[in-house]
Formats: sequence, structure tokens, C-alpha cells
Amino acid sequence: MHRRNLLKTAAAAAAASVIPMRQVWAEDVPTINLDGDSISLDKKDVHDFANSLNGIVLKPDSAGYDIARQIWNRYWDRKPALIARCTNVADVVSAVKFARGHNLLTAVRCGGHSMSGKGMCDGGLVIDLSYMNDVQIDVKNKTASVQGGAQLGDLDRKALPFGLGTTAGVVSHTGVGGLTLGGGMGRLQRRFGLAIDNVLGVELVTAEGKVVTANAKENPDLYWGVRGGGGNFGIVTKFLFRLHTMDPMVINFGFSFPMDVAKDALKLYFDFSTGADKDLFLLGGISMREDGTGGVSIGGNYFGPQRNVDRALQPLRDFGKAIRDSVFPIEYVKIQQVADDGFNAPGNRHYAKGGFLREVNDDLITTLIERIEPLASRRFSVGLLPMDGAPSKVGAKDTVWAHRDAAYNIDSSSKWAVNNSDVDEENVAWNRAYWKDIEPFTRGFYVNQLIDENQDQVNTNYGPNHARLVDVKNKYDPTNFFRLNANVRPTV
Ligand SMILES: Cc1cc2nc3c(=O)[nH]c(=O)nc-3n(C[C@H](O)[C@H](O)[C@H](O)COP(=O)(O)OP(=O)(O)OC[C@H]3O[C@@H](n4cnc5c(N)ncnc54)[C@H](O)[C@@H]3O)c2cc1C
Repeated sequence: MHRRNLLKTAAAAAAASVIPMRQVWAEDVPTINLDGDSISLDKKDVHDFANSLNGIVLKPDSAGYDIARQIWNRYWDRKPALIARCTNVADVVSAVKFARGHNLLTAVRCGGHSMSGKGMCDGGLVIDLSYMNDVQIDVKNKTASVQGGAQLGDLDRKALPFGLGTTAGVVSHTGVGGLTLGGGMGRLQRRFGLAIDNVLGVELVTAEGKVVTANAKENPDLYWGVRGGGGNFGIVTKFLFRLHTMDPMVINFGFSFPMDVAKDALKLYFDFSTGADKDLFLLGGISMREDGTGGVSIGGNYFGPQRNVDRALQPLRDFGKAIRDSVFPIEYVKIQQVADDGFNAPGNRHYAKGGFLREVNDDLITTLIERIEPLASRRFSVGLLPMDGAPSKVGAKDTVWAHRDAAYNIDSSSKWAVNNSDVDEENVAWNRAYWKDIEPFTRGFYVNQLIDENQDQVNTNYGPNHARLVDVKNKYDPTNFFRLNANVRPTV
């Protein structure tokens, strides 16, 4: 069994064995409130809260606490006072009411993949949704009802056997919750739009602990806000997605080019991907491994008829300098998992910056290639993803995602070993310096790539939608209880 599934199963078994037992709290619990002050929770209050849940509450000396507090980016080693592992909507309501009642600093965790570690907090309460991962497919109406703690793989695995799918990210252990609320880019986006463009509605627990539905007819302001506004307005316990008919078999391809032709290969990527066949999904990448080897990759998927794939990919072959040329049919569900390991495996230290390119020119290409420096402790990669096609057909104000005119999403990302905190400073500083040279070519960033931007940058990034977001925040979360995110500050 895959290690992650094993951990999940072991943790679920542990939870199942604890649920029927009464949880005992012998001591008061030191914690942190929303103002950052240290406070102490009365043991009786924690006892009553823990025993009101169907799920469990973990504290630092509980079995399973150290696994439960692990998130994808181990650069962050956060130690919450309490982790409430919720199993249903009532648990989420109880957790929100408990946290609000005590003014607790609170994080919301789904897949735990936030680069800035926003799904975990130091000293506060974590509302952990990861046991709430059920997915129901309505084949007749082509919809998926997905619980707020599910991973992308949970959705793909349930939908694809029916020949149905929708846009989700490219790594299957990423959470549906965080990915979707921030926007959600993925292999199917050129055809079907971003994940938010396929959200038909949500069930959400507000900061007051009320369960509300938001869709085009009910609470349309909230429905607008959750499509790109992140976790600012409440905890989504259920998403309703539109699904699309698709062939569960797709073509996967990967071409690699050595570093000595990197600039030309990158130019090829940009030329080829601009206005490419609508059935192509085209990821570009520059990589630099610890040993100083690296290169440019152009990979992705072809969703058109198999007989046309060679014609569609011909320009990559005409270039004539690929050291890898691999094209093969594969199940979409499997291709959604091929990037799960390696650079994207959970359990390493990471730092990344991201942004949107409006235009591409030779200066950008030169900077991207020439600024890269190898370092024995660090693996580095630049990722590129075209934003044309269906995402660009939606208005900048129709959802919170204002960057509909972007040409590409770009990120520069460093990874190093979990036990090598000695190089944290050096690697973060280097990645920041690299990005400083790339940033002038960008405008705005994807909220899910938030790392260390300040509040002014976050506000500006919401662009023409910021004022309306503040209105929605004032209505649904006027005290800014949900603040560990690309925060919309309330003004009431
Ligand atoms: C390996 C990797 C691959 C990625 N690939 C892609 C990709 O292909 N496409 C893409 O668009 N992005 C991608 N991302 C970025 C990803 O969208 C963000 O990291 C996102 O925050 C992950 O969501 P999560 O639920 O896993 O994270 P978490 O850390 O669990 O949550 C992040 C934040 O989302 C909010 N949140 C999560 N669930 C809920 C909920 N149910 N209700 C309310 N708020 C909630 C909370 O504010 C939380 O702090 C990737 C990230 C990683 C690490």
C-alpha cells in the first residue's frame, strides 16, 4: 500500500477506535487568541467541546498529533494547541462556535498543500477537514458533490469511470478545498475553465457557525466570493461541481531539452503554446538539479483524437534537439498521479514565488535561464502554464479571479531536504533574489501561490474585485475570524 494511504488508513483506524471513547482533559490548555495573546482554555470547556464531536480533538501529547500537524511544506513546523479532526458538518459547526467563543486563532486544513502553510497554525486551533472526503457523482445531471476535505484524487477517481471530469490540479494529493477556493488551474482548464468556473454551489459554515448554501440563486454574493476569494468567508463543507463528458484515456507527452539549448527551447515553448491547438495542455519547465544538471521540458496532454497527435506535436519534433521524446496513451486518472512524487512529494522543505505573465519577450527568456544557479542542497524548478482558452473567456469581475487576461502563470520553486534547515535562509534568499528579476515581467499573482506578500500587495492583487470582496467579508466574517489566507480585511 502507498505510504500516504497507509498513514491515512492508520490514522482513520486510530480515529475510529477513539471516537466511541470519552476524551478526557486533565489540564487547562495553553493557546493563542486572534490578537496573538497567550490564553488558557479551561479543561472543562475543552472536555465538553471534544466530547461534542463525532471526530476527535488532538493535543500535543495525543497519539497521532505529530502526524496530524504535518503539512506538505515542511519548511513550516507548526504546533497548534488543538487539532479538531471533524467528520461531519455538525463537527465543523461545533469547532467554529468553540473557536469563536474563545476568540481562538484558527486555521482550516484540507489537503495541507498551502505553500505558506496556512492550513496549520502555531498555538491555535486547527479545524482539520481531511476525514471529510466523500465524493458523490450524479451521472444524469453531470455533477459531483465533494466534501470540503477531499483530495483531487478522490474526485478524479470517482468521476472518470463514468467518462466525466472537471478541472482540478496536477498533483492528486492536493486538497479540493484550498485549490478550488483560490481558483484551481489544471490539465483540463483550456477546455473547461478553472475549477471555480465549474463550481455550481457550496455548502458553507459561516463565522457565526451557521450552515448556508450559496449558488447562483441563494446567497449569490457569497457564491461569487468563494470562487477565488479563498477561505475568507467560511468553511466549505461541500462543493457542487459541474462535470464534463471526457474520454478517460488521454495522450501524455514529454519532451526534454538540454541546458545548452535552453533559451531556444524556452522560446519554442512560448511560440508553440501561444494559440496552440485547443486540445493541447502544455506545461513548460526549467529544472536545475542538485548536481548541476538541468534543462527545459515541454510536456502535457492531448485531448483530441489520437490520430491527430503527431500532427499537433510536430513543431516540437521539428526543433530537432529533444533528448527525450515520449508520447503514449494513458488513463487520465493515472496521469493525474504521475507528478505526485519527486519534486511534489510531501515532506520536503520548499519556497516558491508565483505570478502572471502578460507578455513574453527575449529579455524574460534570457533572465529565466541565465539567473539560475545550481546549489548542491537545492533542487530548483520554474513552471509555466498557459492561461488562454476557457479561463480567458470569463469576465474579470464574474468571479474573484481578476487575472483573466494573463498569458501564463509562472512559478519559481526551490526544494530541499526536510532535515536540512541549515540552508533555509540561503535557499529562501536565493529564490527571492531570482524572483526579484522575474517579477518585473509579471503582474499580479495566484492567491494560492501566496507566500510572503504583504497586505497591500494582497489587496492590489484582488484588483477590481477588492471592494466587493470587502462587502462580502463585512457581511459574512466581520471580525475576520477566517484570517489565515490571502486575507480580505473587513472594514466594520
Ligand atoms: C504539490 C502541489 C501541487 C499543486 N498543484 C496545483 C495545481 O495544479 N493547480 C493549482 O491551481 N494549484 C496547485 N497548487 C497550489 C494549491 O492550489 C494550493 O497550495 C492550495 O492552497 C492547496 O489546497 P489544500 O486544501 O491542499 O491546502 P490547505 O493547506 O489544506 O488549505 C489552504 C487554505 O485553503 C483554505 N481552505 C482549504 N479547504 C477549505 C475549505 N474546505 N473551506 C474553507 N477554506 C478552506 C484555508 O484557508 C487553508 O488555509 C499546488 C500545490 C502543491 C503543494
